[in-house]
Amino acid sequence: MISLHGLTKVFPGGVRALDDLALTVEDGEFFALLGPSGCGKTTLLRTIAGLESPTSGTVAIDGKDVTALAPGERDVAMVFQDYAIFPHMDVTANIAYPLRIKKVPRARRVEKAAEVAARLSLTELLLRRPAELSGGQQQRVALARAIACHPAAFLFDEPLSNLDARLRLEARTFLKRLQRELAVTTVFVTHDQAEALALADRIAVMSKGSMIQVGTPAEIFHRPATTFVASFIGSTPMNLLPAQATESGLKVAGALLPLPSGLTPDDGAAVTYGVRPEYMDLSAAERPDAFPGVVSVLENMGTHTLITLESPGGLIQAVVPEGEEPPLGASRWAVPRRALVYRDDRLLSP
Ligand code: ATP
Repeated sequence: MISLHGLTKVFPGGVRALDDLALTVEDGEFFALLGPSGCGKTTLLRTIAGLESPTSGTVAIDGKDVTALAPGERDVAMVFQDYAIFPHMDVTANIAYPLRIKKVPRARRVEKAAEVAARLSLTELLLRRPAELSGGQQQRVALARAIACHPAAFLFDEPLSNLDARLRLEARTFLKRLQRELAVTTVFVTHDQAEALALADRIAVMSKGSMIQVGTPAEIFHRPATTFVASFIGSTPMNLLPAQATESGLKVAGALLPLPSGLTPDDGAAVTYGVRPEYMDLSAAERPDAFPGVVSVLENMGTHTLITLESPGGLIQAVVPEGEEPPLGASRWAVPRRALVYRDDRLLSP
């Protein structure tokens, strides 16, 4: 278990990379830190590892305050995006390295390295040096080295980012299976929302040193707490349409919808109406509860097509199954099936 209390990091020069963070990562949990470049993900991971000391606040591992301890005394293993495996050592020596530091006898080290290598399908490669390995194999060596020392937690900083798209998907599945088997608490940094959704038990979405939302992938996907989270999550970006609460209902992009509960006409214009393209249907017939538009772009997504409509409220996107695409230039009405309403940028509870 990893607990953070009031964790703040201000770098010399004044950048507040972490701003009063509180979080508990449960024992055995796979936890993702997700956010755009510069939001503080790496700084947080390095602070948990002890490579960075906080300006204030504490880090505890399994209930013990480790804030003042050096990285080597924290019982965590970190895997970086460049793997940081030693080029002059063969695979066996790389995997066994943390055991050498712990002064484990040589015979036991070689035995343990072989055992971990077998689990990661590296047995054939034990005598090779890193230069003779592919990117995916190097990544597995870095993982093997992290596993060999049986840490209380794994800390991963974008470990899949140097792999090509196909290998990255394979490595993702592999990593998830391995983490399940080992049941070691894992904190995983990524800027790839699909990776976070696929891997994590819970995700923290970060922005500017703060955690904007912490939740399961389903919570983050279906109920993003702010429009920032809504626009960051999803393989196609959510439609976020400016809306106006009026006496007669909610005016959105040429449609008049019933006023959602919790909103009053006094809320005026500070309202955003959010619908994922996957929850937007297209109708060829005019409807008062739908957004009128003209089909301006079709993008092939394999089994589905992403349709962009030009509407009075701006661009609206919908996903339709392959073969059901309207022609370019056609008039269509986009019918929201599942919508979220934001007031002052915060999700309005249903
Ligand atoms: P990326 O996805 O690009 O790696 P990140 O979310 O991991 O970004 P951090 O590397 O944690 O972000 O950086 C957070 C903020 O702290 C950024 O504004 C960055 O410029 C700043 N920062 C990071 N390290 C230092 C440092 N050593 N000195 C000063 N500022 C720093």
